[in-house]
Amino acid sequence: MNKKVVTVQGAGSNHWVGDGFPVRNLFPSNGIDAQVNPFLMLDYAGPNYFEPTRKSQGVGEHPHRGFETVTIAYQGAVSHRDSAGNSGTIYPGDVQWMTAASGVVHEEKHEKQFAESGGTFEMVQLWVNLPSEYKMSKPRYQGITKEDIPSVKFGEESYARIIAGELNGVKGPAKTFTPVTLFDVRLKAGERAGLSIAEGHNTAVVLLKGDVTVGNDTKLSGEARIAVLSQEGEGVVLEAKADSTLLVLGGEPIDEPVASYGPFVMNTREELQQAVQDYKAGKMGHLN
Ligand code: MN
Repeated sequence: MNKKVVTVQGAGSNHWVGDGFPVRNLFPSNGIDAQVNPFLMLDYAGPNYFEPTRKSQGVGEHPHRGFETVTIAYQGAVSHRDSAGNSGTIYPGDVQWMTAASGVVHEEKHEKQFAESGGTFEMVQLWVNLPSEYKMSKPRYQGITKEDIPSVKFGEESYARIIAGELNGVKGPAKTFTPVTLFDVRLKAGERAGLSIAEGHNTAVVLLKGDVTVGNDTKLSGEARIAVLSQEGEGVVLEAKADSTLLVLGGEPIDEPVASYGPFVMNTREELQQAVQDYKAGKMGHLN
């Protein structure tokens, strides 16, 4: 049995993150938190053309605690540096999976050469919650390159890149703390893909651009749209009317209270207050 479409939404808000990321937010702005648990946030940045500049564009030093930030690059390049001593630049096709856990301070900037030559910038940032037992664990950084990500082919030219989880026996490289599935799906017009996502997992199909039918009759077209699917069922069939780029997310829900305040996501208000204090006291470190 396939999963059923529960709701379809467009971007719930449009805003800038720093001066480098003009984003369309698909959640939490749409009020679908429970249906996308363990995912907390999804921002689709761009596609947006940036003029050549010598200015440093993006988001300066800021903290995170209690979850993971996952950045997927489509166009342009983004450089990251954090207080745990990790740094890296991700280019189109690459994914950065940062586990903030007990806390890091980081910056996210357009890569210098990209900024200086200018160009189109397009990224997704997804936040993945951590269960309470890992919220205060050590930060971790996975710089996953395009070459590390295996694909499953569909039809003549369509494919899914398996970033996390498994499809048809092909495993994604990302290490996760709870079962998470993340597929970067590219469908050519007229082709279709059958994707399996575990029974009981919350599931969403995010259309970055294109025109697809989800399941029997739900149309998703244009840009920045999300179809939330049922936990019940074991998969979904996508059929493209136009060339389409999609992200398919699946995850075992984390059945715990969520308390969030800006860049901190914990289980209780007290833990949030502690996070603010720890950040102010410099316990999440600083950038050198
Ligand atoms: Mn950040």
